[in-house]
Amino acid sequence: MALNVLVIGASRGIGLELVRQYREASARVIATARSDAGLAAVQALGAIPLRVDVANPASVSGLAWQLDGEKLDVALYVAGVMSRGDARMPPTQPDFDRVMHTNVLGAMQVIPQVAPLVEEAQGRFAFISSDMGHIAGVPSSYSWVYRVSKSALNMAVAAARFDYPRATLVALSPGWVQTDMGGADAPLTVRESVAAMRQTLTQLTPADSGKFFMHDGQPYSQW
Ligand code: NDP
Repeated sequence: MALNVLVIGASRGIGLELVRQYREASARVIATARSDAGLAAVQALGAIPLRVDVANPASVSGLAWQLDGEKLDVALYVAGVMSRGDARMPPTQPDFDRVMHTNVLGAMQVIPQVAPLVEEAQGRFAFISSDMGHIAGVPSSYSWVYRVSKSALNMAVAAARFDYPRATLVALSPGWVQTDMGGADAPLTVRESVAAMRQTLTQLTPADSGKFFMHDGQPYSQW
């Protein structure tokens, strides 16, 4: 039977490529974006479009009723924003709020609405994190607000899995990828990263819930 997939933050980059590849694999895909252009892009790939701005709590809170009755084999929280300062300067509150609201608060608001629908299918719920959120491997404070946000996202996933035992929740690093965020020098094409993450998702077992993986399925042994 065709997979039922939800991609949150699908207007471009990794999210749009997830939509493309799951559609190529004949999945039924529901894809969220916040702009008209983003909604048109997912619709052009045959996905069912939903407007959600993950940084706006009122917008996110509508997800549950929009998805009423769905059983999701795969859900992905992809929306994310970057910030570049380091620990020699304090973050500004607007920048801190922008990054934390998008990368962390949005995910924490999505979990109680979407994880029960993933449980219905005993499915997988992946949160696109980053190597830059890996505390044990941190090489510098570069982009420290972003690093903090992705470490916090990992904790949200690790903690939430206890409340949704019939779903497999994981944090997933996509690698360094050629997108607007990753830039042209990144070693991985978006197609390669997404293909690897899709493969990794198929290999997960319930015992993996709460863990943090690289795109190719290697687990981070220390956080
Ligand atoms: P892009 O900058 O290309 O895309 C970011 C996506 O997030 C866009 O679809 C954007 O939508 C969406 N988004 C941002 N804010 C919101 C919001 N408030 N509501 C809804 N959607 C939003 O980045 P990538 O595709 O590279 O990044 C995807 C994920 O992968 C992010 O979580 C990022 O942190 C992570 N990542 C990426 C890496 C890389 O090398 N590229 C490395 C490690 C992690 P819109 O078009 O409306 O702005």
